[in-house]
Amino acid sequence: FGFKGCQKIRGPQLRNLLEAKDFILFDCDGVIWHGEKAITGAAKVVNSLIRHGKNVVFVTNNCTRPRENYVHKFCRLGFTDVMLEQIFSSSYCSALYLRDVVKICGQVFVIGCDGLRRELQEAGIPCVEEADAPDATIYNCPLAPDVKAVLVGHDDKLTFLKLAKASCYLRDPDCLFLATDNDPWHPLSGGRILPGSGSLTAALEVASGRKATVIGKPSRFMFECISSQFRGVDPAQCLMIGDRLETDMLFGSNCGLDTMLTLTGVSQIEEAQEYRNSELTTNHSLVPDYVVDTIADFLPAFEE
Ligand code: PLP
Ligand code: CA
Repeated sequence: FGFKGCQKIRGPQLRNLLEAKDFILFDCDGVIWHGEKAITGAAKVVNSLIRHGKNVVFVTNNCTRPRENYVHKFCRLGFTDVMLEQIFSSSYCSALYLRDVVKICGQVFVIGCDGLRRELQEAGIPCVEEADAPDATIYNCPLAPDVKAVLVGHDDKLTFLKLAKASCYLRDPDCLFLATDNDPWHPLSGGRILPGSGSLTAALEVASGRKATVIGKPSRFMFECISSQFRGVDPAQCLMIGDRLETDMLFGSNCGLDTMLTLTGVSQIEEAQEYRNSELTTNHSLVPDYVVDTIADFLPAFEE
C-alpha cells in the first residue's frame, strides 16, 4: 500500500482517465498560469475539455480578486469559454460560508485585499469600514461593537494596527475566526516569494491563542460549494489537478477525488515520492494518484 500513487500518466491511459471523469477541477496558479502568463497549451486544453462536454471548475486559494476579475483574466489569457459559475475562489467561498453556513448577523472585520471585501459585499455581508485616522493607534482607535467574525486573507496593505484590532475582536469567544486559506507562501519569478495568507493567520493565531477555520484548500468546504451549485457531482467522477501537495492533493484526498500533480508549479515529484514512501500513513493523503509534466500533456487526447 505504501507504494500506491505517483503514477506518471500519458498517452492512451491519460485519454481513458479523462474520458472516465465528468468533472475536472483545476487549481489555477502553477497549473494553468504563472501569474499573468498562461502555461503553454493550457488554454487549448481547458477549451477542449469544455467543448467535449466536461464540467470544468477552477478551485483557487487566491483570495485577492472577485470572481468577475477571474473571468476577465481567463479571457485575456485565451481561456475563452470560462464563465463565472465555474470559478470557486477562497474569497467567494468565504462569502458563501459567512452567508449560508454561519448566517452571520453583525459585521466582519477583514484583513485582506479589496477583492475579498468586494466578494463579501456582493453576498450582502457587512464589513467594518477600514479607514483609520492617520494618528490612530490601538490605544485610541474605535472598535466596532458588533463584529461577529474576523476573516484573514492575503493583505498587501497589512498594518500592525489591523493585526492589533483583529486580536482585540478575537478576545470575544463568540467572534468567529476564519481564514480564506492557509497557504504559507507563493513563488514569484526570479526566486522571490510572496508570504501567503497562512503567514498572517499564524500571527493572529499566536496573538489570540485560537485556531482559524480554513475555508480554502485543503478544507472540504470548497468542494461542498461546488456540489451545491452543480447537479450530480459524484466524487468518484472527479479529477483534481494541482501543483501543491499540501493544498491541492490533500484537498482531493479529503474530498474523495482522484488527484493529479502537474510539475509546472510548487511541488516536485521527489516530495510526492517521499510522502508515498513515508511510514506515517497521514502523509499518504498528500500523494497524487497521477503525475504529469504539464497539463499540455492532455493535448494528444483530443486528437482523433
Ligand atoms: N493567494 C495568493 C495571494 C496568490 O498570489 C496565489 C498564487 O499566486 C495563491 C493564493 C495560490 O493560488 P492557487 O490556489 O490558484 O494556486
Ligand atoms: Ca497552485
